[in-house]
Order: sequence, then structure tokens, then C-alpha cells
Amino acid sequence: MSRIALVTGGSRGIGAAISTTLKNKGYTVAATYAGNDEAAAKFTEETGIKTYKWNVADYDASKAGIEQVEAELGPIEVVVANAGITRDAPFHKMTPDQWNEVIATNLTGVFNTIHPVWPGMRERKFGRVVVISSINGQKGQFAQVNYAATKAGDLGIVKSLAQEGARAGITANAICPGYIATDMVMAVPEKVRESIIAQIPAGRLGEPEEIARAVAFLVSDDAGFINGSTISANGAQFVV
Ligand code: NDP
Repeated sequence: MSRIALVTGGSRGIGAAISTTLKNKGYTVAATYAGNDEAAAKFTEETGIKTYKWNVADYDASKAGIEQVEAELGPIEVVVANAGITRDAPFHKMTPDQWNEVIATNLTGVFNTIHPVWPGMRERKFGRVVVISSINGQKGQFAQVNYAATKAGDLGIVKSLAQEGARAGITANAICPGYIATDMVMAVPEKVRESIIAQIPAGRLGEPEEIARAVAFLVSDDAGFINGSTISANGAQFVV
């Protein structure tokens, strides 16, 4: 029987690679997105993966969306909380809106994504949770007080969930990608991108598939004893 996997922000970038990799490994995948209908439709056309639209920052919408996915596909056994945004500004210029939007999506959004599926995982005595954090949650980053706070908070979420879920056969782990070639990174000015690459010992950006393959391992049966861990995937840019 194929396992059901939910990937938030699964229609573009790293999430799209995760959705596709899991599908190719035999999972039935539901990929969510926020509002880019065109990208989502194109993604479904190319991959056959069903997409669902809701805002992860909205608990009621997340719960209703997850209920719809479970009604259509079956109980969700794998959750990849990947949806995330940036609203960068140096701290002295950061607005409360920039702070609140990032907290709502990257931190509360992770709660909203996992909380509705958690009781079912506990009942069925199986679950796999992966949260996509960031190198900048590990080391902090200029102009990303909001983003770094959420990504560090995401690590606290998985470390706590790991302890709560272990007896029920649920694992929760995080991946901290370094700089990966997606819209989020390609949107920064070329000069800035070049200076980022210069800081990566591997001498290149990561590929979304390199994150997706780490997710595929963490959600597999082979990784059942890996719980509460953080995998850094950053080309040695930051070694913990
Ligand atoms: P992209 O901007 O390429 O894609 C983001 C995806 O998340 C889209 O599918 C988008 O939907 C969705 N999304 C955004 N906000 C919401 C929301 N409120 N509700 C539901 N879905 C939402 O991002 P990346 O692939 O670059 O990043 C994916 C994750 O990896 C993020 O958590 C990011 O912080 C993290 N990360 C990325 C790195 C990188 O170098 N790219 C480095 C480290 C971490 P829509 O298409 O509708 O906009």
C-alpha cells in the first residue's frame, strides 16, 4: 500500500522536488501551495501530483484542507512542513508586519500543519514528520532576525515532537538547507548571489533534489531510529 504524504509548499522549489521524489518512490503525494495557481496547475500537469490551496498561517484553513486531503487520498502518514517565506530587512528597519508575516508562515504554519495530523499518527502508531528549517536558523543572518527566529524555532518543534512521538512510532526531524537554487534564492541580486556562493566551500548552490533525497531517507522505514535530528545540507558552509 502506498503511503500518503503531505508536502506544504510542494508545488515549487524545494517542495516540488520533495513531492516529485516521494511520488517516484511510490508515495501518494498531496502538494499544497498558497496562491500561485498557475505554477500549481503547471506542476500538476507535469507530475500528476494533486495540489491543494490553503494558507498554512491559518489554522482553520489548514485543518479543513488536511481533512479534505484525507477524505480524498486516505490518512496522512508523512508530513513535510516545507512552506516558508522571507521578508528581509535589517532589524532597525524591520516592520512589525514583516516580523508577523514570517512568524505566521514559517513557525505557526508548522504548528498548523502538524497539529491536525498528529492525533491520527498517534492512533495508527506510525508517522513521519520532517520540517524544512534553514542554515540561517542555525547561525543567524544579517537582515533575517524574523526568518532566523522562525527557523531556529522549527528546530525546537522537532526536538520536542520527537520526544512526544517516539513511543507512538512517530519520528520528527529537521533539515537545514544551505543556499539552494530556487526562486527564493534566484530572486536576490546577482552580485549578492555571487558573494553567497563565494562563502560555500562546495563552490556552488545546492539543488532542490539534494534536499528531497534527504527527506526521502528520513521518512523511510530505514530511518525509524533517527528522531529529533537535524541534517545540515549546505555544502560545508556552516559546520555545526
Ligand atoms: P519557494 O519560494 O521556491 O516556494 C515556496 C513554496 O511555499 C510555494 O509552493 C509557495 O506557494 C508555498 N508557500 C509560501 N507561503 C505559503 C503559505 N502561507 N501557505 C501555503 N504555502 C505557502 O521556496 P523554497 O523552495 O526556496 O523554500 C522552501 C523551504 O525551504 C522554505 O521553508 C525555506 O525557508 C526553506 N529554505 C530554502 C532555502 C533556499 O536556499 N531556497 C535555504 C534554506 C531553507 P505559492 O507557489 O502559491 O507561492
